[in-house]
Amino acid sequence: MSGTGSAATGPERTPAPAGGPHGVAAAGAPGPTGAAAAEPAWVDAHVHIFSPDVVARRDSYLPRDARFAALYTDPRARMATAEEVLAEMDCCGVETSVVFGFPFRDQGLCRATNDYVLEAMAAHLGRLAGLACVAPGAPGAVAELERCLDAGMRGCGELAPDGGDAARKELAGIAGLLRERDLPLMLHANEPVGHEYPGKSGFGPEAAAACAEAYPGTKLVFAHMGGGLFLYEAMPELRRILADCYYDTSALPYLYDAGVYKAVEATAGLHKLLFGSDYALLSPSRYRAGLQCLSPEGRAAVCGDNARKVFRI
Ligand SMILES: [Zn+2]
Repeated sequence: MSGTGSAATGPERTPAPAGGPHGVAAAGAPGPTGAAAAEPAWVDAHVHIFSPDVVARRDSYLPRDARFAALYTDPRARMATAEEVLAEMDCCGVETSVVFGFPFRDQGLCRATNDYVLEAMAAHLGRLAGLACVAPGAPGAVAELERCLDAGMRGCGELAPDGGDAARKELAGIAGLLRERDLPLMLHANEPVGHEYPGKSGFGPEAAAACAEAYPGTKLVFAHMGGGLFLYEAMPELRRILADCYYDTSALPYLYDAGVYKAVEATAGLHKLLFGSDYALLSPSRYRAGLQCLSPEGRAAVCGDNARKVFRI
């Protein structure tokens, strides 16, 4: 979830390529030459989905949530239903997407969002792995997460707490349940420098590191490269604190040049990086060129193997 770039109407569309990312076909399908795919199919670890009702009536949701309004008041800000996500996955050679709705401040809206994600997971078994959205601190938030995990969801997120101590404390019950289930919590994070954009929050590397310190043993996935937190894995004491932390690439093409992939490799290590597109903001295809700087093994880890391990899919 991020308004880092210019908006356009409807989900970003990718013309159907001969294969998926890097010209590679989805798992099990022959490549353009008829040979088996040289690289495994991708997992996209960061995709937002919205029910047709929310897409059609987005204006009615705007007054109900300030963050939703910040990101989606502009009618050109893209939203996608599960079916639209599936079509884009097929175009891009993505086998599985980790999907979630929006972390409304209203627990009832979160529940409705989660119901749609559960429906979509059931309709597309093996293609969509859901995360639950809850309103941390609201009555029933942990019970709602438990309901979603019991129904097969693979974690919680993308939540967007502010960077304060109170917000971190509200996450304690959620983080505890996820630790018990060995499933991750995905948190939106922003770089503390650089350009402003809708949705840019005060949850930066310091707040992210404080969460890692507060919830050892809970797998944390920090979206948007953790706002740069990965760099501090080069400090031995931070590497220990960040042992259970991962970083996703969501919105990377709007924020960094491709040299950042090598920076992750040199600091946190590629085993901690998850490819995530932030669709419908950006298509998975927009990441292809940048990821070419990695070795095939590194790309296989970032674009699939790491996410399969973290989300246990
Ligand atoms: Zn985000």
